[in-house]
Amino acid sequence: MSNIRAIRGMNDILPNETPAWQQLEAVVAATVRGYGYGEIRLPVVEHTELFKRSIGEVTDIVEKEMYTFNDRNDESLTLRPEGTAGCVRAAIQQGLLSVPQRLWYAGPMFRYERPQKGRQRQFHQVGVEAFGIATPDIDAELILLSARLWHQLGLSSSVTLQLNSIGSNESRAAYRAALVAYLAQHRDALDADSQRRLESNPLRILDSKNPDTQALLDGAPELSEYLDEESQADFARLCELLTAAGVEFDVNPRLVRGLDYYNKTVFEWVTDQLGAQGTICAGGRYDGLVAQLGGKATPGIGFAMGLERLVLLMEEVGSVAHDSARADVYVIAGGDLAHQCALVQVERLRDAHAGLRIVQHVGGGSIKSQIKKADKSGAMVALIWGETEVDEGTVTLKPLRGQGQQLTLPLAALPEALDTALSVES
Ligand code: ATP
Ligand code: MG
Repeated sequence: MSNIRAIRGMNDILPNETPAWQQLEAVVAATVRGYGYGEIRLPVVEHTELFKRSIGEVTDIVEKEMYTFNDRNDESLTLRPEGTAGCVRAAIQQGLLSVPQRLWYAGPMFRYERPQKGRQRQFHQVGVEAFGIATPDIDAELILLSARLWHQLGLSSSVTLQLNSIGSNESRAAYRAALVAYLAQHRDALDADSQRRLESNPLRILDSKNPDTQALLDGAPELSEYLDEESQADFARLCELLTAAGVEFDVNPRLVRGLDYYNKTVFEWVTDQLGAQGTICAGGRYDGLVAQLGGKATPGIGFAMGLERLVLLMEEVGSVAHDSARADVYVIAGGDLAHQCALVQVERLRDAHAGLRIVQHVGGGSIKSQIKKADKSGAMVALIWGETEVDEGTVTLKPLRGQGQQLTLPLAALPEALDTALSVES
């Protein structure tokens, strides 16, 4: 019988990889906390309608990337492809929007895409969202928060910030008409995807990867020329705040975003160190989304970052703290009685040394074979209970790395001797 394998693009994250994830998650949790954001935990499955109404029907995600299925009650459900829609749904449903809210979440997202480096079908995002604040000071706060994350993760010199304003719905509609008028004259020169988008979602043509299409766009009208006054003023203020805070950015007039709900500020943090999957974090303002999903009109802004890409980048720049050891202390016993005695003492040690990784050998075997296992575990010291130790109420401490001497000592002296052994060795 053939083995059952994981679904393509849905990866196991193994014990040798999880330390990098834990490092990333710890930095994120501490940093968002430092800005006063509260964590919200959201379902992985939502009504399909939620994503259609928020992300937009003619987007890549809704058209071809969603995992959608009918449940046993024949309701159409979807594995969330992103987090903002569910977060807004929850904020409305739970009545969180009567005051400004700063929220964040983390978890798996699902998109049916072609798996490759930095692109999975189950991937993980951290999302940060702020509701109820229309002024660009919150835009600046979110960007500063993200910049601080890169700093904490040792990634600052590997990423750059791309910034744009896509204006109000009205100014975007006016621009859209002008863009379509221009591109329609050059329809034959457009790639197939862009031709299709000319009708359905022409703004997305701006971030086409096709060089010929990009060349054609050099002659196209610019979004910035169509911006309404308020969007212009807010964007200028945002740029001013970022400059004052020392955050460098590039204004990219062709930066739009793949989701329909954005307006005014949009931004992406990109790196050139991960090949084609260079965007590690993306976001923007979505002032219309709460009302669009049935809530009282409330401005919102947020961003999401891709954790797989961040872990890859951390590995790339060497900012992952690697520790291949699985244990600090490995406990060895000769025989059943010794094992039992050691077990009791080891629990006491765990009481006194929270945080220490103490692995007790299980499954028996000679002391010699257990010492081999202890060596392999990467532990600094082995603690050995043989017959003599059990009889005399002692334990033998054997340093496994470095210069220390093996010694047999009374149990009462163990905590202190262990402290010394571990601090000398490390
Ligand atoms: P891309 O252009 O790379 O497809 P996107 O615009 O679809 O990205 P968003 O919806 O803005 O991505 O998601 C925010 C971030 O989540 C991305 O910048 C990226 O870091 C990450 N991300 C998105 N899709 C995937 C995926 N399939 N696998 C891994 N990470 C992803
Ligand atoms: Mg995508």
